[in-house]
Amino acid sequence: MTAAVNGHKPEGSTDRLQIINDAKEFTQDLSPQLEQWGLRDAGFNYDIVAVFGSQSTGKSTLLNRLFGTTFDVMDETQRQQTTKGIWMCRGKEMNVMVMDVEGTDGRERGEDQDFERKSALFSLASSEIMIINLWEHQVGLYQGANMGLLKTVFEVNLGLFGKKSQDSTSGRTCLLFVIRDHIGVTPLANLQNTLTQDILKIWDSLSKPAELADCKLSDYFDLSFTTLPHKILAADQFEAEVRKLRVRFTDKGSEGYLFKPAYHKRIPADGIPFYMENIWEQVQTNKDLDLPTQQELLAQFRCDEISSVALAEFTEQSKSQKRPIEAGKVVDGLGKLMRGWRIDALTRYDRDASRYHQGVYKRKRTDLIATLDATLSPLFLGQLKNSHRLCLNSFKKELLDSLKGDDYSFADVVRKAQTSWETTFLETAKEAVVEENDSQWVWEDEAQLLKEEMTHVADQCRKDETKKMVNLIERNFKKQITEPIELAMSTPSPDMWDRILKSFKSTLSKAESTYLIKARSFNCTEEENTVALATLRRRTWVAFREKIDEQTADSVILGKLRAYFEERFRYDEQGVPRVWKPEDDIDGAFMAARDQTLTLIGIYGSISPDDPNLAYDLPEDAAAADPLAGLEEYDFDASLSVFSETKALDVTNKFRKEADAYYVEAKRSTVTSIAQ
Ligand code: GDP
Ligand code: MG
Repeated sequence: MTAAVNGHKPEGSTDRLQIINDAKEFTQDLSPQLEQWGLRDAGFNYDIVAVFGSQSTGKSTLLNRLFGTTFDVMDETQRQQTTKGIWMCRGKEMNVMVMDVEGTDGRERGEDQDFERKSALFSLASSEIMIINLWEHQVGLYQGANMGLLKTVFEVNLGLFGKKSQDSTSGRTCLLFVIRDHIGVTPLANLQNTLTQDILKIWDSLSKPAELADCKLSDYFDLSFTTLPHKILAADQFEAEVRKLRVRFTDKGSEGYLFKPAYHKRIPADGIPFYMENIWEQVQTNKDLDLPTQQELLAQFRCDEISSVALAEFTEQSKSQKRPIEAGKVVDGLGKLMRGWRIDALTRYDRDASRYHQGVYKRKRTDLIATLDATLSPLFLGQLKNSHRLCLNSFKKELLDSLKGDDYSFADVVRKAQTSWETTFLETAKEAVVEENDSQWVWEDEAQLLKEEMTHVADQCRKDETKKMVNLIERNFKKQITEPIELAMSTPSPDMWDRILKSFKSTLSKAESTYLIKARSFNCTEEENTVALATLRRRTWVAFREKIDEQTADSVILGKLRAYFEERFRYDEQGVPRVWKPEDDIDGAFMAARDQTLTLIGIYGSISPDDPNLAYDLPEDAAAADPLAGLEEYDFDASLSVFSETKALDVTNKFRKEADAYYVEAKRSTVTSIAQ
């Protein structure tokens, strides 16, 4: 059912649209038409007026003059009009929807009154002003067509607005009586009186529902009256009066301005098509029509539509960051983006939907927020997760990098790295929060988890570092202990072990304090220190013992004995080599040197200092077995014995043989000197 009919459109006028055709069908073109008229986004900033009256009473003529509309005017020559329907046109240069209701005098023609009732219902549900158009000579004809129409209007009105009249202003409608072809003999005041009397009579005669028995006509309607001279017999006055009447529709400041806010039915302009269609459908199927329900239905429909539009744009925007987040990226300024999309969507929704039924608007808004947040929440959680991972890895890397240098305090390194990456995480997390103080946007748990994981990494790292440190200290110990041991063992004496153990103890104590100093910077626990010290003590003792073993290997010890013996047998007290003479006591000297040397075997054989205070005892925890490290219990007492009886005997024998050889050699040297 499209507009352009009969195409004689005055220049600059807008199209008209038949919103209900003579088959009583509602148009599908109202929405695009409102768009084209530029009224769709007008919100409440528009007005609706409708005209009623008998056929050929100059209704369309009047509307066209008042509003610059383009309704069909019946051809003077053809004086017949059979169409029924409702036409709509936008007022020229004004935000007004004008409805021309045709064929409302079925009563007069004996036709069905069905359309009359339906169009009255339909118009009342949306119009602010109903123009009732009548001839002067129809005034006072109580039984006349117009009175019949009024009765219908009132009845219909009670059905529509009855329940809401007490509290609401939106149920009021202005009835503007335009008395045509006023000759002037009877003044307007008299005509107005007569009409008012008739109207009140009709009102009283209505059978009202019990709860509305006391309500007055003035609770629902404002009555307004005006006359117009004869269009043809007094053409100039007619035009002048029409112009005056027009001002009352166009000039807000004028006296008797007709579009009062109280008459507005509060249907947002973009909801008009759905609303009218729905009203018409209800009217058509003779369903009970109450406006509060209709407004709620309208609100549900429109709020859903507006919500989907807002959501569609939002979904498009949010999609852009879905992939990066899923790929594990930390998106810079994600929170700002998300808050922006969310605010945009809600602003779009609020702008259009807030004009509708508040309950529905708010309910749908809550739904919309839930939908928006259901999309944002995974992004938020993804961002937290990604930032968590990034910060933990960076923390690890920074830690390991810092530990590559030699000069560092482990605890400082950890503290610095931890603070820095925790701060980074917190900044990212807080930035990503979409709404403060909402249990949906919490990051505290994730932060706690990150903290714990960092601590765990630091602990592990500290353990590794501690191990490395213990190894290093052990190596240094070995280097430091070598010379004192070698020196002491090549200058044996009864206090040889006193000297050796003294340096062992001082070297060990140095190693222990080195450990403790480092360990403090590592923030090692008491327990870790105990374990590390036990390990260090065992390892140093083992290293010490290896050195002793090395120094007492067969060939080495024989060398030492030989040297000791030679010094005493082949050199005199001044260290001068001896030249044996026959009268010398070779036997005595030999035996003294040999026996002195033999006592050394006892000294070397077991670690026992002269001064019992210098004895060392490996602490029990250091000797204990450590299955985790694959260590068996260490037999410290056994380790005090450097060599066994058998080995002592063996060494003794070997030395004796060597000493005997020296003796023989000495003897032979005297024989040789005699023979010369
Ligand atoms: P409608 O059927 O009520 O819309 O009437 P129209 O506007 O189509 O006019 C019907 C006829 O009445 C046309 O021939 C008009 O020229 C004529 N007409 C319009 N206004 C007046 C008026 O104020 N007085 C008289 N006598 N005729 C009018
Ligand atoms: Mg007409």
